[in-house]
Amino acid sequence: MNLHSQQQKTWAEWTMTPEQPLIIAGPCSAESEDQVMAIAIDLCKSGHASIYRAGVWKPRTRPGGFDGMGKIALEWLVNMREATGMPFMIEVASKEHVEAAINAGVDAIWIGARTTVNPFYVQDIAQAIQGHDIPVMVKNPIHADVGLWLGAIERLEKVGCTQIAAVHRGFFDSHSAPYRNDPKWEISFELRRLAPDLPIICDPSHIAGKRSLVSQVAQTAMDVGMDGLMVEVHSDPDHALSDAAQQLTHSTFHHMIQSITDERHRIQRDVEPMIGDQRKALDKVDEAMVKLMRERMAIVDELSQIKAEHGAGIFQMDRWFDILAKRGDQAVQLGLDKAYIKALFQTVHKYSVEHQTKVYQSKRKG
Ligand code: PEP
Ligand code: MN
Repeated sequence: MNLHSQQQKTWAEWTMTPEQPLIIAGPCSAESEDQVMAIAIDLCKSGHASIYRAGVWKPRTRPGGFDGMGKIALEWLVNMREATGMPFMIEVASKEHVEAAINAGVDAIWIGARTTVNPFYVQDIAQAIQGHDIPVMVKNPIHADVGLWLGAIERLEKVGCTQIAAVHRGFFDSHSAPYRNDPKWEISFELRRLAPDLPIICDPSHIAGKRSLVSQVAQTAMDVGMDGLMVEVHSDPDHALSDAAQQLTHSTFHHMIQSITDERHRIQRDVEPMIGDQRKALDKVDEAMVKLMRERMAIVDELSQIKAEHGAGIFQMDRWFDILAKRGDQAVQLGLDKAYIKALFQTVHKYSVEHQTKVYQSKRKG
C-alpha cells in the first residue's frame, strides 16, 4: 500500500511558493498507532498534505498533562510512512530527541516555540544535528523577539544545516484575543527582510487556538505570501489528548485547503492579467535603469583612472554629501520619498567606491 502519491523528497525540493505552498498536516500528538494511521489514510485521500506532523514529546505548561507517547510513537510514525509513503516530521527539544529522531530516520524535525526561546537548548540541538543535514523548521519563540528567532536559525546554519525553514505560530500576549497567540505578522515580515531566502511557513492552529478561527488565519498567511502551512488535523479532535480545541476534522481541513487553492486560482486567473501591463512597464524601466548604471560605472571608471594617475583620494566627503543633497531635493520635487532615494544612492555609491578602490590597487601593482 502506498497511498501517498509524492516521491520522498529533500526539504529543498518540497515546493514552498505562494503558487504552491507546502502543506504539513497531522495531529498535535501521536496518541496511538491506530490514531496515527487513521489520520494518515484520510490525509492521503484528500491529497493536500506533503508531510505528516505529530508530536512525540509534548511540552506542557503544567505537569500532569499528557506529555506525549515518547519513543514508541516514533515507531508508529515509521510504520505509517512505510504503509503510506508519507514523509513525517516531529518536534525535538533536546539532544536526546534529535538522536532518537535521526536513529528512527525522520524526514524532518522542528524546534518548538518553548525551545527556540532558549539559546542554550537551541545550541545543544544544533550540536546534535551537526553532521546530519536533516531539514529543520524553527518555530518562532513565544516572546515577540525576532532576534531570538533569527539567532536560533543562525545557530543551525553555523553547524552546517542547509535546509532550514521558519514557522510562524504567533506570540504570547495577554491581549491576544480572539486568538490563542497574537499573530504579530509584522515580526514575520521583519524576519523575511532579514533573511529573504528563508522559507516561512505559518502554523494557523497554534495562532488560532480554536477550530473556528484556523481557516481565516491560514488564508491571511497565504495573502501575506507565506510559503506554506502546518495544520493540526485529527480524526476525532474533541477527544484529542492535546490541543483538542484547535485541531481540525478532515473535512474542515479539506475545505480549508480547497478554498485557499480556489482563491489562489482566482487571483491567478482574474487579477494576474490585470497587472500584466504594469509588470511589462516596470521591466522596461528596470532595464533602462541597469543600462544607466552601466553608463554610470563607465564614468566612474574614467574618473578613477584620472584620480589614481594624479594621486587624488578615492573618496571626497563633500562630493558625496553634495550628491545626497541634490538627489534628495530632486526626489522631494518629484514627490518621492527622500529616504528611498538616499538608500538607493548609498548602494550606488558603495559600489562606485569599491570600483575605484580596485582601480587604485591595480595601478599600484602595475
Ligand atoms: C505543536 O506544534 O504541537 C507545538 C507544541 O507547537 P508550539 O511549539 O508552536 O507551541
Ligand atoms: Mn499542538
